[in-house]
Amino acid sequence: MVEEEFCVVCGATGRPLVDGVCSECAADRAVLVSAPGRAVVVLCPHCGARQVRDHWERSGASPLLTAEDLTPLLEVHPEVGLRRVRWEERSATATVRELVGTAHVVFRGAVRDVEVPLSVRLEHRICPDCSRKSGRYYTAILQLRGPAEGPTEKAVALRSRLDALWTELMREARSDWRKAVSWREELPEGWDCFFTETLAARSIARLAKQKFGASLKESASLFGRKNGQEVYRVTFCLRFPRPAGAGPPAAAD
Ligand SMILES: [Zn+2]
Ligand SMILES: [Zn+2]
Repeated sequence: MVEEEFCVVCGATGRPLVDGVCSECAADRAVLVSAPGRAVVVLCPHCGARQVRDHWERSGASPLLTAEDLTPLLEVHPEVGLRRVRWEERSATATVRELVGTAHVVFRGAVRDVEVPLSVRLEHRICPDCSRKSGRYYTAILQLRGPAEGPTEKAVALRSRLDALWTELMREARSDWRKAVSWREELPEGWDCFFTETLAARSIARLAKQKFGASLKESASLFGRKNGQEVYRVTFCLRFPRPAGAGPPAAAD
């Protein structure tokens, strides 16, 4: 008498087994596709290029998130063949998109549709090409943004709130700081203010921190060389807390 091998989980016979488990049962137990907790897509609002690590690509692409942006964000089990992913947007604020991907996958011969929720933060940053083409000179950017955590505000309301804060800041700024503001750009998540003097931008950033309790993050990127010296551009990101009485209280930090 020949004993047929069976799956130790479901008892099925006649199926290929790995470690005694059939592919259907193994597929039920494995995490086939998952999404990272925090995904970020950085895009240039002028040309649609995406920043991928330290370079930019896909200039001319749509400013809308597409499968080309989303599918590479998924974490896929090494034995899974990802056939296709259909994306559906569930909700959107100025900066955060809540999506659900339905991934059609094959795992050891078992075919599955896996639903993966994905939350993507959208960041707008001007790419080096566009900044060069515009020919506008600046050494620092002051970014006016809402809080990073908590419920997101409607884009229009957020921008007008930040605009009012900016007007108040300008009223108190020294005149030489004001003169260093070259231009401003409106973005879904706030405002970018371009400065011809980094010191002026830093002074205004500190004033905002002091006056409005904004959080301040400073970062620099190499822009080029001038007279043998490396030239850096500095970004000051100011996040203004939600006004009192609007939504749940923000956690102290
Ligand atoms: Zn089984
Ligand atoms: Zn660009």
